[in-house]
Amino acid sequence: MSLNIVVCVKQVANPDYFSEITLDPETGAIQREKVPSILNPVDENAIEEALRLREKHSGKVTAISMGPPQAKEVLDWALTLGADEAILLSDRAFAAGDTLATAYVLAAGIKAICPVDVIFCGNEAADGATQQVGPQIAELLGYPHVSNVKELMVSENKAAIITRIIEYGHLKMEANLPILVSVSREINQPRTATAEGIFSLMDKVFREWRLEDIAVDEKNIGLEGSPTRVGKVYEQKIERQRVILEGTPEEMVDTAIEKLRQEALI
Ligand SMILES: Cc1cc2nc3c(=O)[nH]c(=O)nc-3n(C[C@H](O)[C@H](O)[C@H](O)COP(=O)(O)OP(=O)(O)OC[C@H]3O[C@@H](n4cnc5c(N)ncnc54)[C@H](O)[C@@H]3O)c2cc1C
Repeated sequence: MSLNIVVCVKQVANPDYFSEITLDPETGAIQREKVPSILNPVDENAIEEALRLREKHSGKVTAISMGPPQAKEVLDWALTLGADEAILLSDRAFAAGDTLATAYVLAAGIKAICPVDVIFCGNEAADGATQQVGPQIAELLGYPHVSNVKELMVSENKAAIITRIIEYGHLKMEANLPILVSVSREINQPRTATAEGIFSLMDKVFREWRLEDIAVDEKNIGLEGSPTRVGKVYEQKIERQRVILEGTPEEMVDTAIEKLRQEALI
């Protein structure tokens, strides 16, 4: 059984440098010039699971990303790890889209390589973190969607047997392909790149698609096509009041309780 597998990967600001992100005090624009970009961490797990599925059943893994030209870096990484092909959806017309506009462009890119059996996404992006893009792509394609996936098997009759994490336990589910799954970090331990993988990059298929290369209605893309708008971006100021308690430990505990009561915190 050969599977056509897609994995959605996003380039994000490295969370280790989030403290370097500042806001323009005048415009509220996010300034992240000093912050390096990386592959969204859980998307590494999505790539790994896509590769394992192909290794088990045969087929093809295509990595896809919507973003500026530099997002090619995360696709190159996916190809180095073992993906067969990569597609970058990049056009000024796609920029500044909200999650639905992003999902719409990604769904259009995926439609161009359909029929697809399994689409992998990460559970959430480290920066935007809405967890919306995966479910929205699935809705737009009419596929079932399962989030928080920690185990996936595909049977010979093309049914997916899935374990998803829920509060206080796990849920076992079965669904027919095609399907979109959003994976959690628990699903696997991603592999590291090999020298062979790095050298193979030159032979891999990389496509960059612009607006005119995919079937999209311009009314649904970019800022204009986004049903949600950022109202205001501001830095939250956290006021702290420093109080030094004095006396014996018992007296300090009593004072602390009294102060917390006065502030209606307990
Ligand atoms: C009104 C509005 C305006 C915005 N304007 C801008 C802007 O000007 N510039 C900007 O950079 N962002 C902008 N964004 C943010 C942008 O919409 C999100 O970064 C994007 O939709 C992904 O959402 P998320 O980060 O919450 O991903 P999540 O939904 O948390 O991501 C889950 C998974 O979906 C997949 N995924 C998500 N995004 C992509 C992608 N681009 N390519 C491939 N796979 C993906 C990955 O597998 C990821 O693990 C805006 C958002 C809003 C609401």
